[in-house]
Amino acid sequence: MGYKKPSFIENIAEKLGIIPNLHKENYQEFHDDMRHFSDEEVAGMYENFPPPEKWDNWVEYDPKTWPKKEKKTYQIVPTTCFNCESACGLTAFIDKETQEVKKFEGNPHHPGSRGRNCAKGPATINQITDPDRILFPLKRKGKRGDGEWERVSWDDVLDTIATRIRKAIKEERHDEIAYHVGRPGHEKFMNWVLQGWGIDGHNSHTNICSSGARFGYNLWYGYDRPSPDHSNAKFILLVSAHLESGHYFNPHAQRIIEGKMKGAKLATMDPRLSNTASMSDYWLPSYPGTEAAVLLAMALIILEEGLYNKEYLENWTNWKEYLKARHSDKEVTFGNYITSMIEEYKEFTPEYAEKESGVKADMIIDIAHKIGEAGERFASHNWRAAGASNLGGWCVARALHFLTVLTGAVGAKGGTSPNSWNKFKPTQPNPPAPQKKWNELHFPKEYPLAFFEMSQLLPHFLKEGRGKMDMYFSRVFNPVWTYPDGFTWMEMLADESKFGVHAALTPTWNETAFYADFVLPMGLASERHDLNSYATHGGTWVAFRQPVLREAARRNGKPVEFTYEANPGEVWEEDEFWIELSWRIDPDGSMGIRKTFESPYRPGEKITIDEYYQYIFERVDGLPAAAKADGFTGQFAELEYMKKYGAFAIEEGESYKVNENELSAEQLKGSSVDSETDVITKDGKPIGVMVNGKACIGFPTPSRKNEFYSQTMVDWKWPEYATPSYIKSHIHNDNLDKSIGEYVLVPTFRLPTLIHSRSGNAKWLVEISNRNPIWMHPDDAKKWNFKTGDLVKLNTDIGYFIDKVWVTQSMKPGVVACSHHIGRWRRPQDKIGNRWATNTVNIENDGNGGWKMNTISGVKPFESHDSDSKRIFWKDGGVHQNITHAVHPDPISGMHCWHQRVRIEKPEVGEKYGDIYVDTSKSHEIYKEWLAMARPAPGPNGERRPLWFNRAFTPDKSDGGCYYIPKEDK
Ligand code: SF4
Repeated sequence: MGYKKPSFIENIAEKLGIIPNLHKENYQEFHDDMRHFSDEEVAGMYENFPPPEKWDNWVEYDPKTWPKKEKKTYQIVPTTCFNCESACGLTAFIDKETQEVKKFEGNPHHPGSRGRNCAKGPATINQITDPDRILFPLKRKGKRGDGEWERVSWDDVLDTIATRIRKAIKEERHDEIAYHVGRPGHEKFMNWVLQGWGIDGHNSHTNICSSGARFGYNLWYGYDRPSPDHSNAKFILLVSAHLESGHYFNPHAQRIIEGKMKGAKLATMDPRLSNTASMSDYWLPSYPGTEAAVLLAMALIILEEGLYNKEYLENWTNWKEYLKARHSDKEVTFGNYITSMIEEYKEFTPEYAEKESGVKADMIIDIAHKIGEAGERFASHNWRAAGASNLGGWCVARALHFLTVLTGAVGAKGGTSPNSWNKFKPTQPNPPAPQKKWNELHFPKEYPLAFFEMSQLLPHFLKEGRGKMDMYFSRVFNPVWTYPDGFTWMEMLADESKFGVHAALTPTWNETAFYADFVLPMGLASERHDLNSYATHGGTWVAFRQPVLREAARRNGKPVEFTYEANPGEVWEEDEFWIELSWRIDPDGSMGIRKTFESPYRPGEKITIDEYYQYIFERVDGLPAAAKADGFTGQFAELEYMKKYGAFAIEEGESYKVNENELSAEQLKGSSVDSETDVITKDGKPIGVMVNGKACIGFPTPSRKNEFYSQTMVDWKWPEYATPSYIKSHIHNDNLDKSIGEYVLVPTFRLPTLIHSRSGNAKWLVEISNRNPIWMHPDDAKKWNFKTGDLVKLNTDIGYFIDKVWVTQSMKPGVVACSHHIGRWRRPQDKIGNRWATNTVNIENDGNGGWKMNTISGVKPFESHDSDSKRIFWKDGGVHQNITHAVHPDPISGMHCWHQRVRIEKPEVGEKYGDIYVDTSKSHEIYKEWLAMARPAPGPNGERRPLWFNRAFTPDKSDGGCYYIPKEDK
């Protein structure tokens, strides 16, 4: 272990001070066996950023006038990136003369991203200057979906929609109002809005994204996401391509590399040799869906060889409950716990795991040893990837967390904490009470354990008459394109008896907005307010996304009332939109809605956006003191601090082992301890657990410990999965008929430079990535006589798509893959949009469920104010694959299982690249097949869902209320 010597060039550059001296004496000192960076050294890495005291008047040479040296003066305003979940810090450079944003760079004061961004951050400038962007609110003319639009005022929009919502609420049709979110954000803002309206109207994209992994984690410890402490880890295991993509990937990538620089080893499980796998010490090219088998084999080795953390297992798992429930014939001793687990997993030998996954047994053994050696410093991550792809995909996260538990790395320094320990939760003004409604269009009885709304099934529910959407908002959301079964979405969205009014809140045109009644332009990263906080490392931070031109105007003494007055055209932002809309739904306050949206400082008056954020920021630990120390005084001191720096570190590294925190005397007052389970209860609710004589807060599970054994799974009709398990996926080799050319298609991987369907407006990003061929190993290509560029027809369960082959050794033999970002389209009648990325297509419907799409033309150069639009050299816009997938809801987690069984064949004569066919009648049949696998509610006591499971926008839980199924409905 150690470092390379500096190269000749590095030596010179360091001596001249062009780069920091990374090789100076003592720089390579090891602390224990880990390399140590001091905070000062890290801070020194930021020395090239403009210092904040110069942000109002920053002068630098304009690179565009080179070789002439012309100075330009900028105002620099911080915000956060909106191009993925990480919300990295950005700084907008605003030309002082023209008040135009000229470029974006990182924000060194953002504790998560620390001044660094991926390609998508600076590309925000492309998005705000995109010639095809929507600048004004639009209303449909003619038939829905015909492509005709007219400009309307924000006033018209607000009045029309408010009237409709008011009527629905007054007529007790609450379930007909829904807000459906793609890219979420503004921490808890929509809870505030929708619960303020009293509706159970939140729907999200999470069941096509991360809910599988969330379910697996939640079963263990009541938290649904991991927060790996990569930079302090000794061994890192990724079941994903997390160095290059995924949640919080840029902040995580920095810390994974820091961990590696200090000596940590990295292993990646992925059937593709992703950029992440290529940077790893170990690549485990597992057959898709077999990951849990590999992880359980590692667990067995750790157990058999005594590499586990005895103290942690004894104190922090519910082993007594397990033995009593599963091995009542045995004495309840820790020794029997270990031997019972070994017995339970005895079939998961390395050889069995190799047979299932293709990963060599020797490598599995080696990695199990490394994990055991790392002990508490074992960091791991699974977000979408395998957890989002397979029937039983949730078992992957559960098996991965099993390793974290065995090593005692849960919440440890260098280990893997729950996400919530590193995430800020805002305190909002006038918090509304939980809604007293349960909307079965989002959480139907069939999926009581579904971790998020069954959003992928909404069009099928509407198709079979379970209800309707009278007022439907899609927010930065494009299900026609990103979801499986997009043609069924189109059928339903075009039907006014299913969707009364559809308002698409979006910064850019998309395939779903074509079927809206209102297209409402919402701001990009630098054009909106928002709050961010994510679990990027062992620390907690809050960041402020702000409309930078509005802030510059304020600094220049020209404040505006609404953000659309400062943004390009009349591009608005959602926060102000929702406040204005809510105020108009309840104009006289008689519906009880208005009170949520009143100023906390000026009773009876409408809250302003500044007041909303000030209320939150003045309650952030440490922020008032920091604002004061920086010279801010007055009513908006904390807000002004955030406007200046854009982010604040709430704590840095004190959030380890939070479960061991002791309950205070005040908290314990009136509580009791269960003599059998040691759980501490107060007012009927568990609040902690006794561990070695200490009253600890523990984890938010029924046992307050990590639950190796889940009574919840037993109670909710899945006893066979009471302990961590391996479920053979729907695309397991046993379920494929190789004799007819069936393969598994991995359709889930992200390209590091693109963002689902939101980067078609960013020319730099599309220039880098503009095709999505089928990755195929040379052995498979040989078998099929394919070479790179040949057309291939992939038949799914409901249709087919025709793509091109890319022959590459980076793909596991027997598996094919296709990136899900590309294949954007528009029809000839659609408004021009995303022309850097969209094919023009023809769509035909036979009226009987049969849909055909073919490409009229690919991407072409075009005239615009941006001279680059004439220089487009790529023609191929790729192929839309998700639209040919049927819905596959996992019967337990509710997660859509993305992997596809495909039959490979050569296209027939006349079939062309980009041709697509789908039969939506078939897709409805497949929906029913998967629905039949579910085991519906109620659970114990008539519950719709386990009370201890979190639910987005949790409704009222009182006895006999909406959380319980009425007797007549059971
Ligand atoms: S990682 Fe995400 S948030 Fe950060 S710069 Fe890239 S796209 Fe933006």
